[in-house]
Amino acid sequence: MSFSLTVLGSSSAVPTTKRFPTAQVLNVHERFFLIDCGEGTQIQLRRFSVNMSRINHIFISHLHGDHVFGLYGLFSSYNLLGRKSDLHIYAYRDLEFTLDHFKKQFGINMSYSIIFHPFTADQPYEIYSDRRMTVQTLPLRHSVPVVGFIFREKPKLLNIKKDKIIQFKLGIKEIRSIKEGNDLVRPDGTFVPNNELTLPPVKPRSYAFCTDTSCFPSLVESLKDIDLLYFEATFIHDDRKLARITSHSTSVQAATLAKKAGVGKLLMGHFSNRYKNLKQLLAEATEIFPMSFAAEDGDTYTIPEVHDDQLRQ
Ligand SMILES: [Zn+2]
Repeated sequence: MSFSLTVLGSSSAVPTTKRFPTAQVLNVHERFFLIDCGEGTQIQLRRFSVNMSRINHIFISHLHGDHVFGLYGLFSSYNLLGRKSDLHIYAYRDLEFTLDHFKKQFGINMSYSIIFHPFTADQPYEIYSDRRMTVQTLPLRHSVPVVGFIFREKPKLLNIKKDKIIQFKLGIKEIRSIKEGNDLVRPDGTFVPNNELTLPPVKPRSYAFCTDTSCFPSLVESLKDIDLLYFEATFIHDDRKLARITSHSTSVQAATLAKKAGVGKLLMGHFSNRYKNLKQLLAEATEIFPMSFAAEDGDTYTIPEVHDDQLRQ
């Protein structure tokens, strides 16, 4: 089952010839979730071969132009392409003005519906849930209301040992019950404890997207054990004063947070275009947290499923 992130844009503020403004697409079990939508997102979707029509949910972290100016173009292209399925937008409540303006000005005879799911940025909310996963907001700190998004797979059922199915001639009802954690109990007195019949479930995977924020202590708890953390590192350590003034973060802050939270991997992004290259920024982070990476547009990071088969053997 897929769980992978493709970076569409990793620049802060303004696009450069190499980096577009913020946008990403997360593929969870072949469902595609767009996260932020900077200018030119639809171009990047095409460039990196993401099928635009597979995107039904868009999550917007905050209402700064470099995170939302791609929406109009995307809305328009969907209409021209004859999109039929609903498009769900999750964002801070004030985006409604922008959506209403688009609908009034350009949205006559739209081929599809835009459904807005507003939230506030004062506390965490579960804003999306389906059979396999949830999305939660994480309030962050910036010059305007902003949230991060935490995508988590739901806990999975236990895995049943194949040889036990044959040995006990298990029926479908019994298999379902055992996978839910029950023992095998039969009227004839058969009793087999659950742990002899099953293997632990595959570990649920998680991805957290946090950008346009200063770093603050409670993030450590909120991001504990996340498999892949995208955290902004707009500035190098030398420019930490600038980071503080603009409510952004540095490489050192991102890496320190990743280390304290015990995440699997740190992916840094939202880079200031004042830096010719990211060597120093990356070196500062890896010195603190070796599993630190600097995002490039077009990169894909996959979180593999972890089977804990050995745990009970
Ligand atoms: Zn911003």
